[in-house]
Amino acid sequence: MSAFGPKMPTFSQLAPGVRRLLAPNPSMMTGPGTNTYLFGREEIAVLDPGPLIESHLRAIEKIAAAPIRQVLVTHTHPDHSPGAVELARATGAELLGRPAPKGEHQDATFVPHRVLDDGDRILIDGIEIEAISTPGHASNHLCYRLLELDWICTGDHVIDGSTVVIDPPDGNMTHYLQSLEKLKNLNCSALLPGHGEIIRDAERSIDWIINHRLEREEKVVAALGENPDISTDRLVPHVYKDIDKNLYGWAERSLLAHLLKLEDDGKAECIAGNWRSTA
Ligand SMILES: [Zn+2]
Repeated sequence: MSAFGPKMPTFSQLAPGVRRLLAPNPSMMTGPGTNTYLFGREEIAVLDPGPLIESHLRAIEKIAAAPIRQVLVTHTHPDHSPGAVELARATGAELLGRPAPKGEHQDATFVPHRVLDDGDRILIDGIEIEAISTPGHASNHLCYRLLELDWICTGDHVIDGSTVVIDPPDGNMTHYLQSLEKLKNLNCSALLPGHGEIIRDAERSIDWIINHRLEREEKVVAALGENPDISTDRLVPHVYKDIDKNLYGWAERSLLAHLLKLEDDGKAECIAGNWRSTA
């Protein structure tokens, strides 16, 4: 995981009818905070209102300065969706996205009025937006493509300046890599991430993430070869020599995701909690 970039402005006009408001929830995991996007001018769709922070919800309404018709979410992690229900209640907007799966770190309050599937389209103030199913970071993750600009809002599928945690069982490394390939093949002109600045060189950024994950997978295979029959927690220092020890807890989650992918690929097996290579 690398560091997030310099401090971001709280508010940015990115294109006509596309605005970004930074939620006040900076942290190690969220970087500068969660990006909330607003689409439209006369009527507004809001994407990822973030955690339930009253001041942020009021700031969204103030900046919108027009009726909010729809609230979209990329996924139901606690830094992306909990503000959605309250914003929809206060404005009468329709809630769109995919429901929260069972499990930890999920916002069960998010119950969409309309469940979006891959390829579904939304129209707001003349702006057409397409939902793209991108499971991996979260099983219910959607990206949103602004068709005219050919920009894609990526939530936590791709973020700027850092890698995301893949936390099994809801996080799935096999699906994540497949969803990265899917995003790359759309050849969009820019990515609007859930955290950090707009990414102009989409293809190069996605390639970097794919290569970074595959390099990490090679390190896992090598470490398993040198340390057979090892538990996930004891394997972490062998694979993540480059990260701060304070991040080992999260690294262990992503390591497990790599190991489960290797198991799916027939390259590793787990016996009584200990992993070994079968390649
Ligand atoms: Zn997330």
